[in-house]
Amino acid sequence: MRSVPHFINGALVEERGHSPVFNPATGEVIAKVPVPSRDVIDQVVEVARSASTSWGQSSLSRRTNILFTLRQLLVEHVDELAALITTEHGKTHADAKGEIARALENVEYACGLIEHLKGGFSDQVADGVDVHSTREPVGVVVAVTPFNFPIMVPLWMTANALASGNAVILKPSERDPSVSVRLGELLQQAGLPDGVFNVLQGDGSTVTALLEHPDVDAVSFVGSTPVARHVHDVASAHHKRVQALGGAKNHMVVLPDADLDVAADAAINSGFGSAGERCMAISVVVAVGDVAGDLIDKIATRLDKLRVGPGQDPASDFGPLITKEHLDRVVSYVTSAPDDGINVVRDGTSMVSPRGFFVGPSLLDGVRPGTKVYDDEIFGPVLGVARVATFDDAIALVNNNPYGNGVAVFTRDGNAARLFSRQVHVGMIGVNVPIPVPIAAYSFGGWKSSLFGHAHIYGPEGFAFYTRAKVITTRWPDASESQIDLGFPTTR
Ligand code: NAD
Repeated sequence: MRSVPHFINGALVEERGHSPVFNPATGEVIAKVPVPSRDVIDQVVEVARSASTSWGQSSLSRRTNILFTLRQLLVEHVDELAALITTEHGKTHADAKGEIARALENVEYACGLIEHLKGGFSDQVADGVDVHSTREPVGVVVAVTPFNFPIMVPLWMTANALASGNAVILKPSERDPSVSVRLGELLQQAGLPDGVFNVLQGDGSTVTALLEHPDVDAVSFVGSTPVARHVHDVASAHHKRVQALGGAKNHMVVLPDADLDVAADAAINSGFGSAGERCMAISVVVAVGDVAGDLIDKIATRLDKLRVGPGQDPASDFGPLITKEHLDRVVSYVTSAPDDGINVVRDGTSMVSPRGFFVGPSLLDGVRPGTKVYDDEIFGPVLGVARVATFDDAIALVNNNPYGNGVAVFTRDGNAARLFSRQVHVGMIGVNVPIPVPIAAYSFGGWKSSLFGHAHIYGPEGFAFYTRAKVITTRWPDASESQIDLGFPTTR
């Protein structure tokens, strides 16, 4: 059985495999992921620490050139990378290519590092005194990523962390770890010095060891809410800079004036794309006023045409779930929904296959707070519809939810959309856009239980997170101007 290697100091490092990696389309174990020994963990941190010193001193033009080359290599290898993602994750090839396209945006943004790392200069703030600011790398950055975007989320972190002059230790998801190793090889091919980017395979215990390690300076985490909270707390207790992005329950509010065909298309795309395994997937459609009946009919008609199958098959709209355990969990939400008085409009559990981790799309009517399908993040192809009477009820529903990652409003009324955007307590809002993942020039982050720590990820906040500020106050006095004065220095 193949053991997925680490990528440390520019070389593949083998250890005995531990956790299984499945091909979710067949259910077969195709590789095993090691859990690194303490020696290997210490080795990778030492390598990264040592590499961070010289990389942090590298010229900005050199970093830019490497990132430009990486971008080109990612473009040239897009089909190979997408195939690798499809094999271990299960998403369709087209969806995997979409993920790579969004990852490329982050590399392109990082290529502008000379602009992003620019400091300020204030001339003559007092007589003969100037002030300027710089930003310096934090040192060793640990990046911990989830299974659902095995190349995009690593590049959300890595592109800006490397651009800022840091060394990176990526701990990818143990579910689909191979593409991270390819990323390491491509970065090496792009000219990145060995040791600046490393991939350490492993599980939660590996992450905890890194969080506690004295030579780790900053931690970027993306994953589920309970783990995000834990990572934030442990990293903070060990005095690390930390941003930990968690799970979600994203609402799509459909106002009575909305075009219901447009809304139904959006609900299908955002609810069932990637089998609902996206942190920005819509999981609750909020039907306002009397739109529920027509809207549910339109969604159900479209849902009946979806094709579930292997990600390699171009005819598949979405592929399998990540593991059998996760499949069973998703199925249990649908089968137990009637116990909470929820109407199962479409039951995708009839499509569960003996081979692979497939389940069909489900549509549930009448989800509401206090029911399991509303309260929990299901992370599968299950779309709930909540019925509310008014715009204010919709806002209250969204704001009372503990998560605050993404939300969408569907309407033709600009003022209603504006009020909605101002009143919801959510980090990313789409107006007639169901998956409002910001472009790379803006930062990504939820509110409430969707983010622990204050910094959003990538974009300008990414550069701020991966650097420390310095402010230098300068004076070149003549000896004749020098004097004894024990008063606190003022600019007046
Ligand atoms: P997960 O929390 O199970 O795992 C994420 C990472 O944490 C993995 O690398 C895993 O090895 C590690 N990990 C697991 N247990 C740990 C522990 N006890 N201590 C330390 N590290 C641990 O998440 P997942 O199932 O891989 O991904 C799906 C989740 O990620 C969903 O909740 C989804 O909403 C969320 N997600 C959020 C965003 C976002 O931007 N907010 C983006 C993608 C996914």
